[in-house]
Amino acid sequence: MGVSGRGIYSSKRWERARFLAKRRDGFRCASCGSRERLEVHHLQRVRDRPDLAFELANLRTLCRDCHEVETNRELGRAPDAAQTAWRHAVAELAWPKERNQ
Ligand SMILES: [Zn+2]
Repeated sequence: MGVSGRGIYSSKRWERARFLAKRRDGFRCASCGSRERLEVHHLQRVRDRPDLAFELANLRTLCRDCHEVETNRELGRAPDAAQTAWRHAVAELAWPKERNQ
């Protein structure tokens, strides 16, 4: 069996690669500098380039928030507009008075 799908994330090899990537990035989010909830992002998606799954050059340390932004961008729905609109609509319902003051 080659490198494919979810298997990567439970492998010892990934654990090792993830550690090396974080150490290289100084255990900080490469995007915002946070040291909290660090995850390791694949620049080239595993689905597209399984051969780069453990390649340090293809890995970037990101905090969970930045990872989510990055993942959303990859999925082609940058800061989900529909969700943002929904949140604003809910906020207006929750605090209608603030708008009239
Ligand atoms: Zn971050």
